[in-house]
Amino acid sequence: MSAVAAVESEYYKTTIGETLFEIPKRYENLKSIGSGAQGVVVSALDTKTGTRVAIKKMSKPFQNVTHAKRAYREIVLMKSFNHKNIVGLLNLFTPDHDLSQFSDIYIVMELMDANLSRVVHIDLDHERLSFLLYQMLCGIKHMHAADIIHRDLKPSNIVVKEDCSLKILDFGLARAADGGFMMTPYVVTRYYRAPEVILGMGYKSNVDVWAIGCIFAELVRGQILFPGSDHIDQWTKVVDLLGTPPPIFMQRLLPNVRAYVESLPHKRGYTFAQLFPDDLFPCSLPDDREKTTNARDLLARMLVVDPDKRISVDECLRHPYIFQWYDQSEVEAPPPMRYDHTVEETDHTVDEWKALLFRQVINYREGAAK
Ligand code: AMP
Repeated sequence: MSAVAAVESEYYKTTIGETLFEIPKRYENLKSIGSGAQGVVVSALDTKTGTRVAIKKMSKPFQNVTHAKRAYREIVLMKSFNHKNIVGLLNLFTPDHDLSQFSDIYIVMELMDANLSRVVHIDLDHERLSFLLYQMLCGIKHMHAADIIHRDLKPSNIVVKEDCSLKILDFGLARAADGGFMMTPYVVTRYYRAPEVILGMGYKSNVDVWAIGCIFAELVRGQILFPGSDHIDQWTKVVDLLGTPPPIFMQRLLPNVRAYVESLPHKRGYTFAQLFPDDLFPCSLPDDREKTTNARDLLARMLVVDPDKRISVDECLRHPYIFQWYDQSEVEAPPPMRYDHTVEETDHTVDEWKALLFRQVINYREGAAK
């Protein structure tokens, strides 16, 4: 056994809340920081580097095929990406020695201060607001360059630091995903899902512009823009604010979806000046007025129901509200690879997923030991 593997094999157990963590001794002083559909996340001191890190425990990620695919995809992608606006993988391990005992995976990541839902209630100046948006766009553009279209961006999956740096935590829905039926107690958040996802149309990369537009709107208004109570209500909320889309959009819907959408009462919607009045924006600095006009203009181009008329990620990055931050090395960083979607599109049994996941973890350790 190599030196690294030997050190990593010294594990200890500690309970955080109700969750048992069995982790290498180098990680100390664990504190709970969050939980999601995939597991519990803690912060810890990495005594080897002297820095604090985030550790996510994925408990039995192969318990069903949906969980397993998601965990597999996340691990493969986290291993390969390296961009400052996508959370970086620092370590990956399991305390379980062989496949028959294999149960849990731990992912060690860069630690950030909070997820973006905590920032929603803070009054941000234009500088911070536009910088947060710029970073979301850079992270998403980098994923798009690797053929990953996220489709499920939301504030809880975006983390920030006090210095306003931002990272995207996950890689969204798999290409073949149906939009998220999962047998878990977690409610799937749909507030940020684009019309083409809600209505089951085809999608392209600017599907993610819609979500960033919704998050932008939420940061400005201090509340969720389209708080739909379910799949259908999600669409109703969009139409209430933005109006019934024109016939050219309706024609592209599947017949049964079109019949439903056209049966709803016609709505005129509101103008962007009504939705985002001046008093929602900062106005203490001399050029705040102009920036507010730019911010509203960008919102109006992002929050367009018809994806053919919605702005692209590249156009967002070149929009006057955002362009001040443009740095070629961040925006155009070459992607690690184009993601091979075939594995997650292949049908595997739970046991096969278990073996595939185990291999991913072991490969990482062997790679790190070299
Ligand atoms: P997840 O299970 O990845 O959805 O994460 C659940 C929650 O844990 C997130 O919404 C964040 O609040 C928190 N979290 C996850 N990863 C990190 C991280 N690297 N830094 C800071 N907080 C995190």
